[in-house]
This record gives sequence, C-alpha cells and structure tokens, in this order.
Amino acid sequence: MENEKSTSSSLRIGEGHDTHRTISGRPLIIGGVHITDADFGLDGHSDADVLLHAVIDALLGATGQGDIGEWFPNTSDEWKNANSTKLLDAVLQSILKRGWRIVNLDCTIHAERPRMALWKPKIRIRLAALLNLLPDVVNVKAKSGEKVGPVGRGESISADVVVLMVRETV
Ligand SMILES: [Zn+2]
Repeated sequence: MENEKSTSSSLRIGEGHDTHRTISGRPLIIGGVHITDADFGLDGHSDADVLLHAVIDALLGATGQGDIGEWFPNTSDEWKNANSTKLLDAVLQSILKRGWRIVNLDCTIHAERPRMALWKPKIRIRLAALLNLLPDVVNVKAKSGEKVGPVGRGESISADVVVLMVRETV
C-alpha cells in the first residue's frame, strides 16, 4: 500500500499521420520492411517510410516533444536518403531516457496497392522489434482507398498511428 501511495503514473496519448507520393525507381519501405511486390516507392527526403514517420510523430506527440520536422529537417543533408529506423531509434532513446514506456500502438496503412494484407504480420513483427515491444501490443491495420482520392488512385500512401504511453513517477 505504501508503494501505491508514493507512486503515481501519468498516461499520455499521441497520434501521428504521414503521407508520401508514390514514385517509380525507389524501393517501397513501410514499417522498416521492404515491400518487394511493389514496382514503385515513395518520394521523400529520407527513405520515405510513411509508417515509421507516423510512429515517430505519435511518440513525439504523446511526450510533448514537437514533431518529426523539428527533429529531422528535410533541408538537412544528414537525413538525405536516411534509413528511418535510425530516426525512430533516436526518438525512442530520448523517450526512454525521460522514463516513458509504450503501453500499446495501433497503426493503419492506407494503400491501394500492393495488397498490404499479406505484409501486415511481417510489418507488425518488425515494428515491435524496432520498438523493443512484444508483437501483441503492436497492431497493424491496412485499408485500400476504394479507388477514390489520392490513395485510391495510387498517387500516395498514408499512415495513421495512435500510441498510449505511461510514465511512473515515484
Ligand atoms: Zn514522412
């Protein structure tokens, strides 16, 4: 009981969203996974991993640390063609240092093609490993764009992420 009195936990929710245009001649990387059945990639300063960018923004949002553009300016040569797993790791280390822990993460990928259903389990396992979590607290959903709008016409791929975080303070 004494412990309960002297320990309080703070819960914070964060959301992240990202969109990148599709472009030929680049590999398609989503959630740190190379989607090999796509004949296109995503345009962007880094490797344009739309899901990891949304995860980063959700983590920064929950812990009140701004957004991905402030951390990794797209004018900086340092992040040109950067592997987004490196960006995620830098943010994760900062968050862990501040005493935050991820409770769970829920993601949605919006893509008309390729069919993401086959890739969801692989992305889930990869994302959990990148965040040092068990896969059961990382959920990955996928939706098509129903052939309407930029996603439905295959012009872009988007991702939405919600994260719940907790910090125990003594
Ligand atoms: Zn992005």
